[in-house]
Amino acid sequence: MLLIGGVNYYTGQYLDIKKIAALGHAKSCIVGIDLAHGAGNVSPELHDSGVDFAAWCTYKYLNSGPGSLAGLFVHERHAKNRNLPRFAGWWNHNKETRFNMRQPFDVMPGAEGWQLSNPPILSMAAIKASLDMFDLVGMKALRKKSEKLTGYFEFLIQQIDTDRIKIITPSNPKERGCQLSIQVKDADKSLHQKLMDKNVITDWREPDVIRCAPVPMYNSFKDVYEMVAILKTLL
Ligand SMILES: *Cc1c(COP(=O)(O)O)cnc(C)c1O
Repeated sequence: MLLIGGVNYYTGQYLDIKKIAALGHAKSCIVGIDLAHGAGNVSPELHDSGVDFAAWCTYKYLNSGPGSLAGLFVHERHAKNRNLPRFAGWWNHNKETRFNMRQPFDVMPGAEGWQLSNPPILSMAAIKASLDMFDLVGMKALRKKSEKLTGYFEFLIQQIDTDRIKIITPSNPKERGCQLSIQVKDADKSLHQKLMDKNVITDWREPDVIRCAPVPMYNSFKDVYEMVAILKTLL
């Protein structure tokens, strides 16, 4: 099996998953993509990419809150294969005969056959509220703003006159989502704390990287401008 992050959590690099699927399949691998940093951030076109499966959490860009349900994609070519090993629970058993409790276990074809058990309704409600907003705005519009917002962020960072910082995220908008990872020389986590004290929410990754993700759904160009001004003062 070839399992890899579609958007790298550290560098923010968005890999060409279609190419990865082709490479993996050429070596007879099952190809799976971790989209924890991709869901709600990029448009991976999973079906067309040809990957066998993908999984993601919903509490990052999808805003459903910590502990919320994850998501799973299984390619249509596997949809009716009942012989694939899977977690089995009463929710993926044929509904007609579910309560007869007889062998063999009768897995439903399609997406229903990957359910396991009762979903937690409060978690589902948060996901639904979020996905409704994503439906309303659309990934296309979000990506369009995101490319501009992160491009503006990158431009402002490059204007800071210092040799202490370096953006380690690719500069090609097709090779990233909204995150920029900034490597800072001679800094430690206290820089992140100072940003937090100014109400700038970023994330520190050891040894020397701040991850910053201006999110098109709710961050503005003004937010980005103010964040960079604060970072500049702190540096
Ligand atoms: C956040 C994250 C996950 C999600 O893990 P959970 O167990 O759902 O919290 C998976 N992979 C990466 C790289 C992540 O950053």
